[in-house]
Amino acid sequence: DVNVVWMKRQTVTSTYQVAVLLYDMTAVKQIQQMQLDFVSNVSHELKTPVTSISGFAETLLAGAQDDPKARQEFLEIINTESKRLAALIQDIIALSRGQQQPARLETVALRPTIEKLLVPLQQTIRQKQIHVQLNVAQSAKLMTDRQKFEQIVKNLIINALVYNRTTGQLTITAYPQKNGWQLDFNDTGLGIGADDQKRIFERFYRVDKARSRHQGGTGLGLAIVHNLVTILGGKIQVTSQLGVGSTFSLYFPEKPQAVKLTKN
Ligand code: ADP
Repeated sequence: DVNVVWMKRQTVTSTYQVAVLLYDMTAVKQIQQMQLDFVSNVSHELKTPVTSISGFAETLLAGAQDDPKARQEFLEIINTESKRLAALIQDIIALSRGQQQPARLETVALRPTIEKLLVPLQQTIRQKQIHVQLNVAQSAKLMTDRQKFEQIVKNLIINALVYNRTTGQLTITAYPQKNGWQLDFNDTGLGIGADDQKRIFERFYRVDKARSRHQGGTGLGLAIVHNLVTILGGKIQVTSQLGVGSTFSLYFPEKPQAVKLTKN
């Protein structure tokens, strides 16, 4: 066992050192276990769409393609499941990229950035008749990593739209706060119960698995958000009431101090 060998090689001189060593090993074991769980979750999540795609493709080749109704239905399933697979791969890459790529700091103006991110979502906004309100001053600016910041905001906006009700509201507000900015994303959606609020930032955790899958969710969106917010020296918290709506509040320092950050 590596730990034992390591301990034998050390001259452990005090109880304190032993305690520190044991504590470290517990932390290492926990991280190892989390990595194993993640790999097993990823494998399971990838297997589901792949099984479906290959199953329906084989059925089509075995003769179902001669029936126009079955052909249409099976091709639609193959199409949906391939998109799910692509989204999953994209999110897994985002999760590992966030950890690996150092942050590159630049000045990011909040309002134009959020407006730009809303453009490709206009169709969903119109379809669900969501009223989007932006209470963000032109002067609101941060030193941050643009790519990571945009990924955070995009994921929160998408959730606020997906889990909203038709004719609902999405309000994005920026307040100056302790040498930084607080950004609130408030929606009038499903809401999240107290027990679930504690777990939604975990990888692959979904409150309603069927609903998330139906909406094309991967269960990784908020894990990516949490990861990136931490890297950028920020904080995130959620307040929510079932059936009323949720507010995801972000805090970002104007200039992050974290040692993890490298300048452009
Ligand atoms: P998903 O891909 O399932 O949306 P996320 O990590 O983005 O994964 O979110 C995890 C879960 O948290 C979702 O499945 C959903 O149940 C819940 N959730 C996230 N955002 C909201 C929101 N704005 N309103 C209600 N529920 C939400």
